[in-house]
Amino acid sequence: MNKPNQIKVVLVEPSHPGNIGAVARAAKTMCIENLVLVNPEEFPSGQARARATGAVDVLERAVVCHSLKEAIADCTFVVGASARERGLQCPEITPDNVGARVWQELEQGNVAIVFGRESSGLSNEELDQCHYLTTIPANWEFSSLNLASAVQVICYEIYSAYLKKSSTDKVVNNDLLSHTNADPLATIEQLENLFEHMQQVLQEIEFFDPKQPKLLMRRLRHLYSRARLTLVETNILRGILSATQKAMRQTNTLDK
Ligand code: SAH
Repeated sequence: MNKPNQIKVVLVEPSHPGNIGAVARAAKTMCIENLVLVNPEEFPSGQARARATGAVDVLERAVVCHSLKEAIADCTFVVGASARERGLQCPEITPDNVGARVWQELEQGNVAIVFGRESSGLSNEELDQCHYLTTIPANWEFSSLNLASAVQVICYEIYSAYLKKSSTDKVVNNDLLSHTNADPLATIEQLENLFEHMQQVLQEIEFFDPKQPKLLMRRLRHLYSRARLTLVETNILRGILSATQKAMRQTNTLDK
């Protein structure tokens, strides 16, 4: 039998071990028990264990990664949490819609909710790896919640959507195109390979200049992120890219 799909709480570079413990506790109270830590400053830690109290098991099972890319590689739906508005950013989703949406997405793959550093939140590059950005509405003059409080609010929304779903079994509809399970969604890792390949080809055909990158690759990421590519579609695009490279090489050889 296949492993059931998971919801992961991902913390990017948390600096206070106490917060990691408090996050484990917050998530576990809402029945979310998969914690992924990207380059934590101090872990494992006695302070984290003390703050986790009844959720030490979540800490013990926490996975440590070296990059966000690695943390979300096996996911098909990723939401980043940020207190700040950004310039060019991924589409926004309200925390209550995150709750409803997560249960739809779990039918197709693993889901990650990504939280940023206590000091500086998530970088634009990290947010570009997310399908959506969610912001907890708060005092406009002081909107930055403590990390574990933010995790609590989002996990509460996910759990409360689960309770609603099981009582009515009605799931809020979403704005993106649905697709059949026969053609699974591409994982973040498969999409990253596509973006790498695409950048390489765009460079070869001199459409992309790495010395003057502007926003091209970020805009393309957002475009493909909105499309929710399946694995088959990703493979078609990569096939086109490979054929382009082959044609380029043949032309170059003929020119010589
Ligand atoms: N000073 C940082 C905020 C860090 S708070 C900044 O300016 O971005 C640590 C993390 O908690 C944030 O990266 C975010 O993931 C989460 N968080 C805090 N307040 C939030 C809010 N109002 N909405 C969504 N996430 C929030």
